[in-house]
Amino acid sequence: MLSNLAVRDIETLVHPYTNLATHREVGPLVLESGKGVYVYDTAGKEYIEGMAGLWCTSLGYSNQELIETATEQMKKLPFTHIFGGRSHDPAIELAEKLKEIAPVPISKVFYGASGSDANDTQVKIVWYMNNALGRPQKKKIISRLKGYHGVTVASASLTGLPNNHIDFDLPLPGIMHTSCPHHYRFAEPGESEQDFSSRLAAELEDMILREGPDTVAAFIAEPVMGAGGAILPPEGYFEKINAILAKYDILFISDEVITGFGRTGNMFGTTTYGMKADTISLAKQITSAYFPLSAVMLSEQVYDVLVDQSRKIGVFGHGNTYAGHPVGCAIAVKTLEIYQREKIVEHVRKVSPTFVKRLEKLGEHPLVGEARGVGLIGGVELVKDKQTKAPFEAKKGVGAKSVVFAQEEGLITRAMGDRVAFCPPLIITEAEIEEMFNRYERALNKTLNWAK
Ligand code: PLP
Repeated sequence: MLSNLAVRDIETLVHPYTNLATHREVGPLVLESGKGVYVYDTAGKEYIEGMAGLWCTSLGYSNQELIETATEQMKKLPFTHIFGGRSHDPAIELAEKLKEIAPVPISKVFYGASGSDANDTQVKIVWYMNNALGRPQKKKIISRLKGYHGVTVASASLTGLPNNHIDFDLPLPGIMHTSCPHHYRFAEPGESEQDFSSRLAAELEDMILREGPDTVAAFIAEPVMGAGGAILPPEGYFEKINAILAKYDILFISDEVITGFGRTGNMFGTTTYGMKADTISLAKQITSAYFPLSAVMLSEQVYDVLVDQSRKIGVFGHGNTYAGHPVGCAIAVKTLEIYQREKIVEHVRKVSPTFVKRLEKLGEHPLVGEARGVGLIGGVELVKDKQTKAPFEAKKGVGAKSVVFAQEEGLITRAMGDRVAFCPPLIITEAEIEEMFNRYERALNKTLNWAK
């Protein structure tokens, strides 16, 4: 029996990223409150938030300092925009702090309200800059199959997943996708990670040469692929990609919307994987998700071009109402202060071995083909045959079923096809990590019985 709230939900909401037909029968999971790494539904049932919401609630669900900071800022100045040179203290302070901790030299920060709009900003700046530099043919952007960069028109084009393109008339022309660096799925039999990386770098180079290097402007990548299935890069991958991009003067955009702020065991995934990024997209953990805020970090070189262009044509015609929202910026400043004070990166490094060990142990389960993680992010791939890596029929929905069983066991996680991700709040303790995987093991056993 669906609850009253569930019935009202079905009659009123179109849910993002939801099978809208199935939702009419199943109804929503209605959450009511949260504390630490736990959330509670309207019946009071407890769940470990194994996905930190959508890879974002790094400081968990009841951080009083963030709540108080938001309240104070709301009372003082609940809104001002930053158009036309208007400004405010939290926006300035946050930009200074971001510059301090940036993993590559950056000059300025441009704010938005979501990861998607940050990546749209990246695309627009690349186009704008190359027009300004008198090379209007250098506009193409290369992304990767299974990469995830958002849902707005340009960022959904960068995303390399079929559901974001089919019937949406995307991707836009000039946005291309190179191979997905998933060694478990796409390596040739016996191909080492290093050899696989070399092959992918050679494929990227072929694509650039085929298109014409003077037409390719930028390459975008997440340090760890999130919504594509929590996929870690193979050994040597970014080192080889760095070299190709440098050879053809192609800008490297690092999409740190998930990996930024400690997720991989360094403040930034760019550092973890030695990415020679020119510019970086940030969102989610920048405010521990307590407020929508995103930021694009820009190099001096790009910034100088934008300023020169303003001298010629006037206003830089880009930006949205909530860019640099004072409440979001104040929360972000506090979030960064807490990360530093509580030594969040050190904490991730301390608990990560337990996370990775328990995740990899799932690899012994008869349903699990691959289990890999770094820092506090990772995933498992459920397969029909471990030996041959043969997948289940997609429409059987094995990954999704394991997530339903996990929910019964008091764990929220997320299936992307038959890959299931784990990405808990960064404040998680070792005992909570053990409990999270105990719950998923029970869910996997139920899935095995069901799948027989
Ligand atoms: N980039 C990456 C790597 C993401 O994981 C996401 C969202 O999950 C986005 C961009 C889009 O962010 P948003 O959903 O805030 O638009």
